[in-house]
Amino acid sequence: MNLLNADLHCHSTVSDGTLEPEALAARAKAHGVELWSLTDHDEVGGQHRAMAAARQVGMDYLTGCEISVTFADVTVHIVGLGFDPDDAQLVSGLAATRGGRADRAKEMSEALAKVGIRDAYEGALRYVGNPDLISRTHFARFLVESGVCADTSEVFRRFLTEGKPGFVPHRWAKLGDAVGWIRQAGGAAVIAHPARYRFTPTEEYALFTEFKAHGGQAVEVITGSHSAAEAVKYADMATEFGLFASRGSDFHAPDESHTELGALPDLPGQLTPVWQALQHRVIRA
Ligand code: AMP
Ligand code: MN
Ligand code: MN
Ligand code: MN
Repeated sequence: MNLLNADLHCHSTVSDGTLEPEALAARAKAHGVELWSLTDHDEVGGQHRAMAAARQVGMDYLTGCEISVTFADVTVHIVGLGFDPDDAQLVSGLAATRGGRADRAKEMSEALAKVGIRDAYEGALRYVGNPDLISRTHFARFLVESGVCADTSEVFRRFLTEGKPGFVPHRWAKLGDAVGWIRQAGGAAVIAHPARYRFTPTEEYALFTEFKAHGGQAVEVITGSHSAAEAVKYADMATEFGLFASRGSDFHAPDESHTELGALPDLPGQLTPVWQALQHRVIRA
């Protein structure tokens, strides 16, 4: 079970990835993925396409999404897996979560104009596949194209992270709401890439405690965002909090993502994979 090549985290043009769901499915299959999930930000609009594409290439599938949450003033991502993608409460919760993105993007554009970068909103829009889902990634691609930065990491470092000129704070969904939407739609909630958040140890402990209290079941231990030492740390946290473990590349684009679909270390043997708990929700090829 732990040795299954499961990749339960990636993005398509429905959010901030550059490949269509069908192209991602083919790429995942070509890289040996046996169980796949497309987890677009705050959106389940690609789920039926991803499901059909997985079946077409002969790969098992779990429905997915990645919900933006604000916890202790920090943005945290909660992955949902194995839910009913047509569940009305989940669909409306995600629509509300996405709702502020257009205004935030216009504010980001005004902020960037103050440091001499003009028309960034229009520029970012050229990269947007889903008009409901303009993200910082689309601004980053525009700033690379305009020659302001060499790559998207440099854009985030210089312009788009907290304290930098193009950063606009935003209030996302509440932790309990996001976990609740996923759970009542029949899915499992997963803390995405925990090492990425700038929490103090006390805040991190509070995140795990409250997540668990709200009915959250799993944590990403193996992700493209974790070093080997971080994987060990979160494997221990999974055990301490009695959480299932997940594995996902967080693949966004062939020329941006440093982790290829399916190209990840195995889940440590002592952990119970989240896909074991979600057996009944797997859509078989
Ligand atoms: P948003 O949801 O609009 O705040 O955008 C968040 C997205 O930006 C993440 O899902 C990543 O795809 C991307 N991102 C965040 N931080 C970085 C970074 N340091 N380097 C590259 N991409 C990043
Ligand atoms: Mn993203
Ligand atoms: Mn994320
Ligand atoms: Mn992601």
